[in-house]
Amino acid sequence: MPFSLSPDKRAAAHQLAAAFQPGQRVCLITHVNPDGDGLGSEAGLAHLLLARGVEVVVTNPTPTPPRFGFLFEDLPRVDRTAEAVKELRRADLIVVLDISDLGRLGMLSETVRTRGAPVLCIDHHVSAGELPAGARYIDSEAAATGELVFELAVANDWPLTQPAARGLYVAILTDTGGFRFSNTRPRTLRIAAELLEAGVDPEEIYLEVYARAPEGRPRLFAEALQTLVVEPEIGLAWVTVPPGAIERLGVSSDDLDGVVEFPRSIEGVRMALLFREVSQGRIKVSLRSVGDVDVAAFAKPFGGGGHTKAAGLALHGSLAEVQATVLAAARDYLGGNGGSPRHG
Ligand code: 5GP
Ligand code: MN
Repeated sequence: MPFSLSPDKRAAAHQLAAAFQPGQRVCLITHVNPDGDGLGSEAGLAHLLLARGVEVVVTNPTPTPPRFGFLFEDLPRVDRTAEAVKELRRADLIVVLDISDLGRLGMLSETVRTRGAPVLCIDHHVSAGELPAGARYIDSEAAATGELVFELAVANDWPLTQPAARGLYVAILTDTGGFRFSNTRPRTLRIAAELLEAGVDPEEIYLEVYARAPEGRPRLFAEALQTLVVEPEIGLAWVTVPPGAIERLGVSSDDLDGVVEFPRSIEGVRMALLFREVSQGRIKVSLRSVGDVDVAAFAKPFGGGGHTKAAGLALHGSLAEVQATVLAAARDYLGGNGGSPRHG
């Protein structure tokens, strides 16, 4: 079965594309602590729009992790708040990618809310939030926002250049965990195949994204994995980033990408968590599940969200307090009352 688009999606893609006019100023924005999908989708869409004579600036609320910098070599991008705010105030259109919620736009959310320009959105999250009005292209079945940007290009006959394809490949590669997670559909691989046909070199992308880590990254993994606790009776496992480790090792929170896969990889684990202090008194929790456990639903009462099998939340409190609260809720959620934890 070749790649195809439903009439509904085609219509939505046409409607979204109709918003772009040559000469317009368009800001692309993704969520705080951007990942490969948010950034790759931005880079892909930026190249597609530049080719159509649209003036594009990527304006993100927090900096780009160094391993994704190669995507933006020829693209205008600002991720310092003051400059991003200035760009957003001049924008004719704003496109929010890989999130549907103002609350996840950090320091830029107020400017996006009050700008008065249409706010378009391209996203695949299950948890909807609030955004100002504008065209939408949303599909929670898509493995990555990058798939949706690809669909936009196909539906509108936008030629897929090599630099655009690289961004979209990074988006899909990273959000599927290298085509391993359950969100990898036949369609995902068909799209990836078309991206390779457009000139993506998979090894080059692999080396940029996964093989240029600072030495501190494996050291950070080692320290975090030392903290592993497993409650085998209920299938719960978690790790904690030692406070201060990220700064001491000279790495960034992006370097934690993948740590939570280790507690998740243990036989019998149904829910895996990663705890870390992101600032004084603010704790971030990454959630992953196996099987039918829905971590987006688990995160919701805490104000978090994401996908069924990968979600997150952030709470105020000390590390110990947040762990106590979240772990108690997790034990409840998994339908057990704890059992005896197994420490390393
Ligand atoms: P990660 O754990 O890798 O940071 O995020 C996994 C998924 O959960 C992503 O889809 C991300 O958008 C979502 N997520 C992570 N943290 C939060 C949060 O604090 N709030 C919401 N709504 N979603 C989050
Ligand atoms: Mn995504």
